[in-house]
Order: sequence, then C-alpha cells, then structure tokens
Amino acid sequence: MAKIIKAIRGMNDILPDAAHQWHFFEQTVQDWLAMYGYRNIRTPIVEQSDLFVRSIGEVTDIVEKEMYCFVDHLNNDSLALRPEGTASCVRAVIEHNLLYGGPQRLYYCGPMFRHERPQKGRYRQFHQVGVEALGFSGPDIDAELMIMCARLWQMLGITGLRLEISTLGNADSRALHRARLINYFEKHTGALDEDASRRLHVNPLRILDSKNPQMQSIIEGAPKLVDDLDEESRLHFESVQQILRARGVSFEINPRLVRGLDYYNRTVFEWVTDKLGAQSAVCAGGRYDGLIEQVGGKPAPACGFAMGVERLLALMQECGQAITQPVPDIYIVHQGVHAAEYAWKAAEYLRDADCRVILHCGSGSFKAQMKKADASGARYALIIGDDEALAQQVTLKSLREFTDQARVDLSTVCELIQA
Ligand code: ATP
Ligand code: MG
Repeated sequence: MAKIIKAIRGMNDILPDAAHQWHFFEQTVQDWLAMYGYRNIRTPIVEQSDLFVRSIGEVTDIVEKEMYCFVDHLNNDSLALRPEGTASCVRAVIEHNLLYGGPQRLYYCGPMFRHERPQKGRYRQFHQVGVEALGFSGPDIDAELMIMCARLWQMLGITGLRLEISTLGNADSRALHRARLINYFEKHTGALDEDASRRLHVNPLRILDSKNPQMQSIIEGAPKLVDDLDEESRLHFESVQQILRARGVSFEINPRLVRGLDYYNRTVFEWVTDKLGAQSAVCAGGRYDGLIEQVGGKPAPACGFAMGVERLLALMQECGQAITQPVPDIYIVHQGVHAAEYAWKAAEYLRDADCRVILHCGSGSFKAQMKKADASGARYALIIGDDEALAQQVTLKSLREFTDQARVDLSTVCELIQA
C-alpha cells in the first residue's frame, strides 16, 4: 500500500456534514453585509511578503513567528500566504485607485494562514470575514462597524458576546506612551520574558499584547495609553461611545486592548466570549488611518475588523444553533431500459420545477435501491419500472410517513410533495 498522505497540521478539511453550517453562515453574512451597503472584494491568497511586513509591522507575532513565507524558485520572488486580509485589501484599493470614486465599504471572506500552535479555535489555516470602510474619518463609521456586528450576532443566534473598546490615540500620544512604557518596563526587566525583553526598545506596545500569564501582573501596572491621549482622539473616542450608547449597544472600555498589529490608531475593539475557553476573541478591529499611505497610497483614513469564522461557528453551536442540513426532496429508483430513459427525463423535469432530486446511479434491485433512497434522507421515492415508463407515469412513495403510494403523472408529483 502507498504511504498515506495526510492534511497539514492545523489545516482542516471541512467535511460535508459540517459544510452546510458554513453555507448558512456565509449566506447570512452576505445578506447582512448587503443590508449595510458593503461590497465584496476578492484578492489573491499569496502576496509579496513585504506587504505584510510593512503593514502589520516587523516586530509583531505575526511577522516574527507566524507568517508562511517562501521563495518562488521560478523567479526568486519573496512571497507569503496572507496572515490577514486588511493589507491585501488596502493594496488592491491603492492599485486600482478605488478611492478615486469616494469612500468605499468593502468586505472579503476566505482562508488566512498563521503558523501558530494548533488547538481548539486556533488553526494554521483559518477563515475570516473582513469588513473595511476606507476613506471615512469617523467616528460615525467606527460606531457603525460595531453596531452592525451586534445585528449579525442576532442573525446568527449568538448571545453573550461582550464588546470591549479602547483608543490608541494619534502618533504623538503613542510616542509619549511609548516613552512611558519603556521607562516603566526598564524598571521591571527581571520580570520580562524573552519576547518582551527583545521588544522593549523597538516595540514596547507589543509587550501589552503578550499572552504569557506570568507577564499579566506587570502588564496590569503599566501606564495606560488612555491617560496620554491627545485632545482630538479623546473627542473622537467620546463620540464613538456616545453613538454606541444612543443605539443601545453596550460596551466596556478595556484600556489594555492594544491589538496585535502595528497599523492601528484611535478606535480599537474586540468582541469576546467566555464560552470558548482561551480563544475568547471572535471579532476584532479598529481604525488604521496611516496604513494606506504606509503601503504607498495617497493618505486616507480607514477602519475595519475581521472575525474568525471557526470561532463563530463553534459559538453558534455553544448557543444551541443547530443548522439542519437540507434533505433531497426525491430519490428516483428505476429498473429497466425504458425506465432508465424515463428516469433521466423525470429527474430534469422535477429539477426544472425547483425540486432537489437524486437519480439512482448504478444498478441494483428495487429493494437495494429503496434502501439507498431511505438512507439519502429524501422525503419521497419516485419508483419507475418499465410499465410505469411506458404509461409515462411514476409511483410516488413517502419515505417519512405511512401513506399509500400513488401512481401519478409527473406533472402532479410537484403538487403532491409540496402539499
Ligand atoms: P488572538 O488574540 O486569538 O490570537 P488575534 O488578535 O491574533 O487573535 P486578529 O488578527 O485580530 O486575531 O484576527 C481576527 C479574528 O480572527 C480573531 O478575533 C479570531 O477570531 C480569528 N483568528 C485569529 N487567529 C486565528 C487562528 N489562528 N485560528 C482561528 N481563528 C483565528
Ligand atoms: Mg493571534
């Protein structure tokens, strides 16, 4: 026997029994985004590595440890599997000059790749729905992004999510905060882990983002950015809160929320749950006013978020939202040459009438075929033998109720099964 080749660790197959929940999710998300006027953008999964290094930041977990980078040996390009979608979206918006026509509300869905330690809710290929509002300076759009999430949770039947918000201020307030952070952590160098010591002078903000439990108490005591805030950012943040309150969306201010990517400024937020163990964030984002210029475009403000599809699907299950798989309406069993010919015709006729039809393929006795019909989950079997075929009729039998089978014309089948 040939050696079995398995899927790559942390990269999952989505099997048919699970796929229908994905379809339900994707359909709901598309309807929801259409309600708010967001349009789909689809970018490649592979980009030049530099795009992510420049946007996410060199001294971040994603770029330092998690990015799948490789050299395309056919032309020596340094490429990366996208670890997130904002950078690609911004690259495409610049490349195609989309902001020329005014601000854009965009979204994308698809796989992202991060070389993390696989565990429940944390995979190496995972899926995100990303929503980006480009060219808007807010604070109204910041609030809209959070308010629209609240509606999606309702549409998906998810309860118990908490919204945490904070602000990262402008470049000056971050510079001031950075100096204070360095000063503070320099007094506690003994308590810093390896990552934190290395980042202390290059990117101290990232220390606040550490997941190391031993670092949490020292992080807790660190100076807070909200205390170094510039006046404009403070007013912006006040406005965001005021809109959220007016719309009845509750939130908590979490001054420790800094987000793991360097491109954020001002508003940042996360939707978190207590129902998924350690993997508590299901949706996260914020404002990134400097990114478009940083990636080479004309300066323009922007704001967005991404949600983790796997975590939201797990949460739907935790909330008892079982999505039932659609069953076929009809399974056609047939035997005989004329019967086969008529079965093909019947199948297409019924599909024209919007029925979900499985045509038995392969041979088999009527009894064996009926077993398959039952196992398919179909509501009805349509039985065609040569005598039915010659009479241009079919025998309809309910597979789920004890009713008499009936020999009828094809045209009456749809009426009977919809009754
Ligand atoms: P975490 O704090 O859990 O590592 P993150 O801050 O790295 O998340 P983002 O980059 O903000 O995550 O991505 C947005 C969302 O994508 C997260 O809130 C989460 O739901 C999901 N996500 C991120 N990384 C993974 C992963 N490796 N596997 C599954 N989902 C993920
Ligand atoms: Mg992460």
